[in-house]
Order: sequence, then C-alpha cells, then structure tokens
Amino acid sequence: MEEITIHEFEFALINEFFTELERQGPGSPEETIRALGFIGNLSNKTKIADLGCGTGTQTMVLAQNTEATITALDLYAGSIDKLNATAGKLGLQDRVKGIVGSMDNLPFQNEEFELIWSEGAIANIGFEKGLNHWKGFLKKDGYIAVTYESWFTDERPDEIEKWWVDAVPEISTIAHNISIMQKTGYIPVAAFTLPESCWIDNYFIPQKARQEEFLKKHRGNKIAEDMIAFMKREADLYLKYKQYYGYVFYIGKKI
Ligand code: SAM
Repeated sequence: MEEITIHEFEFALINEFFTELERQGPGSPEETIRALGFIGNLSNKTKIADLGCGTGTQTMVLAQNTEATITALDLYAGSIDKLNATAGKLGLQDRVKGIVGSMDNLPFQNEEFELIWSEGAIANIGFEKGLNHWKGFLKKDGYIAVTYESWFTDERPDEIEKWWVDAVPEISTIAHNISIMQKTGYIPVAAFTLPESCWIDNYFIPQKARQEEFLKKHRGNKIAEDMIAFMKREADLYLKYKQYYGYVFYIGKKI
C-alpha cells in the first residue's frame, strides 16, 4: 500500500469537509452570471474549461446560462463524482463532463477552448503562472474569467497581511493583477469585486453546521481539529478586515 503523506491526508480531509457543501469557495450564481455577461460570441459551438471546479456549482450555472459544452477539471476525484452526478440529475450530462486532473498540467489540446473559467482556484497554481499556462489552451480572441483573492487597499494591518501572505504569497492589489493580465497577453475586459454575501452567506455560514458534525466524526484527530480552527479564524479575520481584501473577478480576452 502506498504511504499517505500528511499533505495528502490534509487534502483528503479538506475535500471531505467541502464536498458536502454547495460551494468550496466564496461566490454566487448571480456573480457567475454577471461575469458571463462580459463574454462575447457564446454559441452552441463554444467549448469551456472550468478549472478547479470543485463539486461544480458554478459549472452548472455556466451550463444553464449558455449552450456551450463544458469540461470541468479538479484534482479531487470525490468532487468530480459529485459534479458528474449533479450534471446527470439536471439533464446536462451531454454538455458537462467532469474529469480528474491538475490545473498545472492540463490534458487538453492547444487552443481547444473559447473560454477558460476558474472560481477560487487559480491561487493553487499562482495568478501569473496560471494566466500564462492556460493561455495556450485558449483560441485567439478567447476569454478567461477567474476569481482571485486581492487587496482592496495599498496598505493593510499586519495581522491580515501576514495571514494572506502565508496563504497566497503572490496576493496583490487589483491594479497590479490587471497589469499582470495585460503582461501575460490578455486585454483586460473587466474586474469587479464579489459582494460580502458571497463570503458570509454562501461560504462561512454554511460551514458552521458542517464544522460541528465534522469535529464529532473526527474527534481526537489533531489535523482535523486544527483545520476547523483555521477555518473559524479565517471567518473571524474576514469580519474584522473585510474592507481590505476580497475576491475579484478578472475577465480578459486573449490577444
Ligand atoms: N470552483 C469551486 C467553487 O468556487 O466552489 C471550488 C473552489 S475551491 C476554493 C478550490 C478547488 O481547487 C478545490 O476543489 C481543489 O480540489 C481544487 N484544486 C486545488 N489544486 C488543484 C490543482 N492543482 N488542479 C486542479 N484543481 C485543484
């Protein structure tokens, strides 16, 4: 039997926690649809890749608001199973396919897609690296739409600066991220911040009940307990410092 490393164990625990929740990151159907409104030339020929799709809440919104064919990719097989089951339940299985894979080594053809989507996941590869790597899979004039943690101000209190630099070392301001988008070969089309409800109502509040049942199930498991303590701190810090940071939707068009 292969040995499981602590890192893999944490990855499995994090995903066990989140696959039971509708969302694995801040967002909402309204904001997904708002971002979709900036994308030109959508048709029944459009091919979309949704990277770091999780259980696919935003994937279904994309499918229900376009006629496109969507390939949704995530590293975690449990999320992909759930996504494919949901697509089947909604009758979308002919246009939505979930596959297991890694966003830094995509199993796609060059210039295969008209649109690459990614909500709450690009930090796993890095904003600049992701924009660069994924561009090769986009057709010319194709679009990219990602949400990414961003600073709203030039300066922040040390406590929140340290927390986010630990979590996402590349975290930067909206203006800087737009300049990276331009530098990596996209015309910046739009950038807008996600409202607080995406964090509070759709992300932190649903976590609360799940945290209690998860702690009961994993009583005595230090890694699980530390993970829940981390999540509670993430929520407390958000309430304290939400004027300084949030998720921003960045939409660009490949030159
Ligand atoms: N897009 C979903 C949403 O907004 O609800 C999920 C966002 S969740 C914060 C980040 C997702 O990225 C997780 O589902 C995780 O499994 C996935 N992920 C992390 N590293 C990845 C990688 N290297 N390749 C593909 N997916 C990855």
